[in-house]
Amino acid sequence: GGAVRLENVRFAYDPERPILNGIDIDVPAGRTLAVVGPSGAGKSTLARLLYRFYEVTGGRILIDGQDIREVSQASLRAAIGIVPQDTVLFNDTIGYNIGYGRDGASQAEIEEAARGAAIHDFIASLPEGYATRVGERGLKLSGGEKQRVAIARTLLKDPPVLILDEATSALDSRTEADIQETLARVSARRTTIVIAHRLSTVVDADEIVVLEAGQVAERGTHAALLRMG
Ligand code: ADP
Ligand code: ADP
Repeated sequence: GGAVRLENVRFAYDPERPILNGIDIDVPAGRTLAVVGPSGAGKSTLARLLYRFYEVTGGRILIDGQDIREVSQASLRAAIGIVPQDTVLFNDTIGYNIGYGRDGASQAEIEEAARGAAIHDFIASLPEGYATRVGERGLKLSGGEKQRVAIARTLLKDPPVLILDEATSALDSRTEADIQETLARVSARRTTIVIAHRLSTVVDADEIVVLEAGQVAERGTHAALLRMG
């Protein structure tokens, strides 16, 4: 499962000023779609519509053929995992941060998710391991380590749909490349929607949609878009 479809999606924060003007997108289950475009094009807004942080003002969004307005918030949260641009961690243990939002996750499951996010060895090397506190009064994690905690949290939830909202754009280029590799692995068998600034970070997407001023300006594979210039 996990097919995502947007039909003539429209959205405005302010009725006088439409932000998305009729977006049609079809992501078959297990495929990766990238949404790129200049700042202000409406990419983050589109991502927020997918998990119903905002409601569409026209058209509809379907997951596995079902209008997301007809799905309970709980099932929608289970269906969609988000790795945001800037992860804010709780001032609590690493284990808590990974397990947050999934009641009753076992230590073994948390460790498995950390392994998937390529952070288990690092955590195991800490004096208190998963019980290490992070945040203001605890260990300070780097931006890359925080993103890996966010990835582990999402992996633990095992959602059929993954949204990466500029998940690496706040990182230095070396860390970004490192995490891109992990994300590529994590997204391999899931429906994935990647929001990105640069075309160079979404080479492997099955389809790329270029958003400009709330409309699809171009769509195609990475190679095809490069040919169009
Ligand atoms: P992108 O992610 O492509 O940079 P956004 O979706 O963040 O674009 O923003 C698209 C437009 O919507 C911008 O003009 C932005 O100022 C506006 N916008 C974003 N969030 C809000 C909001 N909460 N209220 C009003 N306008 C917003
Ligand atoms: P992002 O692209 O990550 O959303 P922004 O700086 O565009 O970052 O937005 C930061 C916050 O401000 C978001 O919650 C967004 O919804 C809100 N926001 C952005 N633009 C506007 C706007 N023109 N009016 C009101 N809120 C806005």
